[in-house]
Amino acid sequence: MAKRVLIVGGVAGGASCAARLRRLDEEAEIVLFDRGPHVSFANCGLPYFVGNVISEERSLLVASPELFQQRFNIGVQTRHEVTAIDRARRSIRVRALDENGADRDEPYDALVLSPGAAPMRPPLPGIDLPGIFAVRTIPDSLRIRHWIDARRPARAVVVGGGFIGLEMAENLARRDLQVTILEKLPQVMPPLDAEMADPVREHLLAQGVTLHLGDGLSGFEPTASGGLIVRTESGRGIDADLVILAIGVRPETALAQAAGLALGPRGGIAVDAEMRTDDPHIWAVGDAIEVTDVLTGQEIIVPLAGPANRQGRVAAESICGRARAFRGVQATAVVGVFGLTVATTGASEKGLRRAGVTDVEKVYLHPGHHAGYYPGAKPIHLKLLFAPSDGRVLGAQAVGLEGVEKRIDVIAMAIQMGASVRDLAEAELCYAPQFGGAKDPVNLAGMVAVNHLDGLMPLGDWNALGEGALVDVREPHEYAAGHVAGAVNLPLSTLRQHYRELPRERRLLLYCGVGQRAYYATRFLRQHGYDAANLSGGYATYGALRAAGLLPS
Ligand code: FAD
Repeated sequence: MAKRVLIVGGVAGGASCAARLRRLDEEAEIVLFDRGPHVSFANCGLPYFVGNVISEERSLLVASPELFQQRFNIGVQTRHEVTAIDRARRSIRVRALDENGADRDEPYDALVLSPGAAPMRPPLPGIDLPGIFAVRTIPDSLRIRHWIDARRPARAVVVGGGFIGLEMAENLARRDLQVTILEKLPQVMPPLDAEMADPVREHLLAQGVTLHLGDGLSGFEPTASGGLIVRTESGRGIDADLVILAIGVRPETALAQAAGLALGPRGGIAVDAEMRTDDPHIWAVGDAIEVTDVLTGQEIIVPLAGPANRQGRVAAESICGRARAFRGVQATAVVGVFGLTVATTGASEKGLRRAGVTDVEKVYLHPGHHAGYYPGAKPIHLKLLFAPSDGRVLGAQAVGLEGVEKRIDVIAMAIQMGASVRDLAEAELCYAPQFGGAKDPVNLAGMVAVNHLDGLMPLGDWNALGEGALVDVREPHEYAAGHVAGAVNLPLSTLRQHYRELPRERRLLLYCGVGQRAYYATRFLRQHGYDAANLSGGYATYGALRAAGLLPS
């Protein structure tokens, strides 16, 4: 007999599960329920709809209920909220929101939960005042658009400097609002290590965005003129005509919890590798679940569209008896910030340390996104994390104007395949002058790490500068413009004449602008019997570490 599969939530995870189910089982009865007015809409496009980059609401609708019905024979019930699961009877209670809230029960053979996540809205004073918005659904973004069109606000405060907060900041600036970002952490882009977030901070300031970092939200007050004052924990009051709350999301677990399904340690729905909950007839996918971090083995919640889509497929395959295991997540993500691209994959250094992983080494580099001799090369600030014991790639973060996400995608694949830095060094990647380098930034990152592993160029530690004699191998005019306190200047260009002046009994910690000249100097000195190491990333990385408060200023 044909099985009846019901799906709660018809967007990223739910819709992809439904479509995959149909492709695998022509007989199954499949019904999608969503309490919102749409299914299969592009949440990721919402900030750009607010910013008018996407001007038509219908452009956000990836697939309509009619298309689901006609093309896939999938029933879609929008404005239908699932309010309870009766696991013993294998049925759900559905409330028709447009029919005076009439309830009915729907039986299932398999149930898939993809209810997503809800924006955090802490119970602070004034949180429900008009003009304070979250952005999760098309109606949310329509409300923001209407507010902008009707009131012509001048000042926006975005609370939260993560992916969505930064996208909203950019798009509100596009609508000619003066934007302030309030972020509780001392950095923007919390998934990044602080020094990698520093170029993002600088870029935001250069674009005229006001930043209040290291200061939390404490509440809102209305003003007599119809505006708002955003109050902060430090006592600041920021004037605003529009506020966006982008302080994170929490998994929608109420339905699962009420049905007694197990949650994981992070508060998401617990599932196995096939996306099955602890009830053999119920699967769960997307932002509502916990998944395994492939790098640390810990349970995490990663609210991203790619994993939600892939999990939907895995659940469909499991329901159709074609079980395969979801690989886990590594949080590969990218965001555009006023023309800057910020991308990350795998673990961050702080995440690894938090997880108690000590087998970690890192390299910094700042190569051009294509050959330097071809006009228009832009630097990519790249940090690569790897395990020194076996060279396994653990994570990477990159920031730049061009070519950033391409490098992170290559490294993301390397991580999935369990590759080592030797594989990065050897990777054969596209090259022509306008696209890359004969040694691509990915190759270079691998080569730097391999040189360290092979003892050819040990990496110095920026956090342990006291453990050696600091040598700045840049030219005197560069040294005069700014250098690390305590460094002597011995330029690479005169090193062969003067290297005997360096102390032999101490480790030499070398640096230059970005790491390349110090590499040449390290190799020269090591071949002359010196214990030389390279402080990777050079003075550029030193500046970012200091600005991020990770080194004494
Ligand atoms: P959702 O897509 O949120 O779908 C859940 C659906 O379930 C909702 O429509 C909801 O109405 C419905 N629902 C919930 N409970 C019930 C119920 N009881 N009954 C009926 N229906 C219910 N990710 C990226 O990877 N890249 C990006 O660039 C990106 N940008 C984003 C920008 C914004 C503004 C937002 C909000 C998210 C963005 N994301 C991005 C995250 C991505 O959209 C989510 O990770 C993804 O949509 C999660 O899919 P999901 O199926 O779990 O949940």
